[in-house]
Amino acid sequence: MTTQELISQDKSHVMQTYGRFPVALERGEGVYLYSPEGRRYLDFTSGIGVNAIGYGDKKWAEAIYNQALKLGHTSNLYYTEPYIRLAEELTERSGLPNSRVFFANAGGEANEGLIKLARKYASDKGNPGGTIITLVNSFHGRTVTTLSATGQDKFHKHFFPFTEGFLHVPANDKAALIAALENTPNAIAVMAELVQGEGGVLPLEPDYVKFLREITESGDILLLVDEVQTGIGRTGTFFAYQGYGIEPDALSFAKGIAGGLPMGGLISSEKCADTLTPGDHGTTFGGNPIAAAAALEVVSRLTPEFLSDVAAKGEYVKERVLARKIPAVAEIRGRGLMLGAALTGVKPGDVVNACIEKGLLLLTAGSDALRIMPPLVITRAELDEGLEILFEVLEKI
Ligand SMILES: *Cc1c(COP(=O)(O)O)cnc(C)c1O
Repeated sequence: MTTQELISQDKSHVMQTYGRFPVALERGEGVYLYSPEGRRYLDFTSGIGVNAIGYGDKKWAEAIYNQALKLGHTSNLYYTEPYIRLAEELTERSGLPNSRVFFANAGGEANEGLIKLARKYASDKGNPGGTIITLVNSFHGRTVTTLSATGQDKFHKHFFPFTEGFLHVPANDKAALIAALENTPNAIAVMAELVQGEGGVLPLEPDYVKFLREITESGDILLLVDEVQTGIGRTGTFFAYQGYGIEPDALSFAKGIAGGLPMGGLISSEKCADTLTPGDHGTTFGGNPIAAAAALEVVSRLTPEFLSDVAAKGEYVKERVLARKIPAVAEIRGRGLMLGAALTGVKPGDVVNACIEKGLLLLTAGSDALRIMPPLVITRAELDEGLEILFEVLEKI
């Protein structure tokens, strides 16, 4: 089907829940994507932080094919090797001693697990029904409970009543958090993204993150980090908290883990590694052997050298943007290859549309920012190619 045919068939048969761009994609190679008509796009979006190792990766495809031939799925009533090897790998890469993994299928589902973990942990300690504090501008998912956790009003229209037990406080505001904790004697956890993705690529201040760790530790309140977008190398360390020099009590991951197959999960530190017991939690597809085999291939690429190059490539983009001194760019922020360019006087959506015309795919974030999240394997030459298109657009618009 042609792009036009796909667009019209989508309108007829698919719920119109997405504000899609008028672009259809048929295949990919490295950091490039191709439409059915053969139009080439350089990808600065990586499926919103998913396609960490790019498109058409042979070893990734072979891992999936070989596992599909061997065993494509079985229930969680039985053991299989891929999820066990992956759990071993992830707990080690997390740096959290004696930690454990629960596998799910997506970010929202992973965060549901994180929330259940915190509630069970508190309930085991005789404090059921407590409150989880989250941050304004956060994004934790689309399920009714994770929407409730999400600190952005625009997601809260229409879907009442929400799950109770969440309180939102402004990010990077120590006094607000202290006050919230004083006024919420039954607070059981603080949950945060260390770089808020959907909210606008807003990194928390390092000092605030240290404070979050200290204040939660002293009150026996769990610190839950949502690494769904920041995790799996995106910010230049395996998990973003490693770049901040703290250890959470538990974290969720998803997007980048399996390089394009649906997978998510949570990792719990030793403190609550035994909290969820048989019957407390589960999911049919969690730890699926094909997704786990794909994830093992992705994780094997994220060597220390690779990760420090992700960090260096992020700095390279920031330097190039700053050196160009474009009036429409107010700020360039973020970590590793999770970058946001705040714009003034220009709508991010208009810039994205103009870039599409010139063969570059880009994201927006929050109300004022462009989001740059290419596959982690992108080269400096490919970054230059995309930045040249972006600069041209920003200087003309
Ligand atoms: C994308 C995202 C989610 C939701 O993940 P889904 O896989 O879409 O359910 C949750 N938290 C953060 C930080 C995200 O970026």
